[in-house]
Amino acid sequence: MKNIILLAPQAAGKGTQATRLKEKYNMVHISTGDMLREAATKKDELGIKIDKLISNGLFVPDELIFQLIEKKIQEKECANGYILDGFPRNIEQAIKYDEILSKYHQELGNVILIDVSRDEVIKRISGRRICPKCKKNYNINFADQKPKHNNVCDECHIELEQRKDDNKEAIELRLNTYYEKTKPVIKYYDDKNALYIVNGLGTPEEVFTRIDKIVGDSND
Ligand code: AMP
Repeated sequence: MKNIILLAPQAAGKGTQATRLKEKYNMVHISTGDMLREAATKKDELGIKIDKLISNGLFVPDELIFQLIEKKIQEKECANGYILDGFPRNIEQAIKYDEILSKYHQELGNVILIDVSRDEVIKRISGRRICPKCKKNYNINFADQKPKHNNVCDECHIELEQRKDDNKEAIELRLNTYYEKTKPVIKYYDDKNALYIVNGLGTPEEVFTRIDKIVGDSND
């Protein structure tokens, strides 16, 4: 399978779509956000530093991200293709990623932008809730994604939580950062003719159908 880079503002459904691609095509889902949140749970010096940056909606230093990515893509399980979710996030990372790819004789593959407006993103992020136990996601701003009972997980019956970086200030900062830093990445891949733009509105199934068509056609 060709590797995939999923680009999108926060809460555009990157994680959901990556999971579907992973299941359908047996690819590895590489989420730098998940890797960093995992590292942040270790209360060592690095974990504390990462936790602080993430909670404030700030980028983790590029060097650390490069180490994570370079190590991960060499893993045997990535040989069948992987989906990058959350990387590259700035032009420096996109350029460095090209270097890493050529170092390991790998192809870029497809870059897919899930296109969602800023207003829609804010509505999605501010309503996002997660069960701390089973990790099921809910959204209190959308009738079809609300829990049955106010702020309680349908399965575990415990109180839902909001991600630390989903507070209003951090959302604004992360979105501003996205438009400032990640837009040039979109242009970078467009200039290489590697970019596909997919409408991110609609149900996850509808968005997946659009993405799946691109992936299916390009692997024929
Ligand atoms: P995400 O789950 O992709 O929204 O990532 C959560 C947070 O992790 C971001 O707001 C950043 O603080 C950090 N992060 C994730 N990926 C990167 C990256 N490629 N470069 C720098 N920071 C990152």
